[in-house]
Amino acid sequence: MLLKEKVALVTGAASGIGRSTAQLFAQEGARVVLVDLNASGGQHAADRILEKKGDAAFVQGDVGKMKDIRKIVDFTVNQYGHLDIIHSNAGIYGMKGSAIDITEEDWDRTLAVNLKAAWMLAHCGIPIMLKQGGGVIVITGSVHSVRGYAGYCAYQTSKGGLLSLTRSLAADFAPTIRVNCVLPGAVITGLWDDVPEDVREQSAQFCALQRNADLNEISQTILFLASDMSSYVTGSQLVVDGGLTSIIRKYVKSNDH
Ligand code: NAD
Repeated sequence: MLLKEKVALVTGAASGIGRSTAQLFAQEGARVVLVDLNASGGQHAADRILEKKGDAAFVQGDVGKMKDIRKIVDFTVNQYGHLDIIHSNAGIYGMKGSAIDITEEDWDRTLAVNLKAAWMLAHCGIPIMLKQGGGVIVITGSVHSVRGYAGYCAYQTSKGGLLSLTRSLAADFAPTIRVNCVLPGAVITGLWDDVPEDVREQSAQFCALQRNADLNEISQTILFLASDMSSYVTGSQLVVDGGLTSIIRKYVKSNDH
């Protein structure tokens, strides 16, 4: 019960990392507000938590819009009286292209959902946390935050920006609020729906551990950052990528070498 009595807001909770994290937070005793654009998926995820005797509520919203962020934060405080944890996680990946290929519309939407949303959640949520005297924010970045991949100009810019936002928030609101960023490697979720099996396998082979992550390996890391287990960690980035960004695959010692 690492999050007993805590109120946690999780965005992108209808699917993938957000859904897994919302479930784990609830198992650890948190009251969880699940947020997503996808109303049926989000409600289903909240219902699964309620069926297991957890405490959860779903709010539909677009994290790329300030009016929705205000609605989500207001709902949380009206429903539960406080806000202890924000997991800013919803993201989109599909708007691909280099700087000259990507359209202005796709650039703006990617930056709004992936980067501006995290600032808007902080903007609306931090005043409540300050008034309470504490709070924790965990932001989902990516290996794209620290590495170059061709053809993902907007996504990569948004994920890189989240690292700077993490440090900025951590500096401005310490010691009351801790802010950290988790950087997942490949984990098969809704973002991978259009990716063929052979490419998924190829992705697994890029990293030292030679497999894609299990969802719970990402959500457990987020739980660590959201709980008092990481009470001396702030302004930090935690890479969970099977060694992808730190080890050149060629130099991995294993049985098949
Ligand atoms: P996912 O598609 O399974 O989940 C993303 C969720 O966000 C979906 O439920 C979607 O409906 C929701 N969403 C999208 N736009 C939204 C909006 N405007 N408002 C509210 N909700 C919205 O994907 P996932 O892999 O779980 O992605 C979660 C986060 O993890 C993203 O920020 C993604 O960039 C990051 N990430 C994923 C991977 C990976 O390999 N899956 C790797 C690194 C980082």
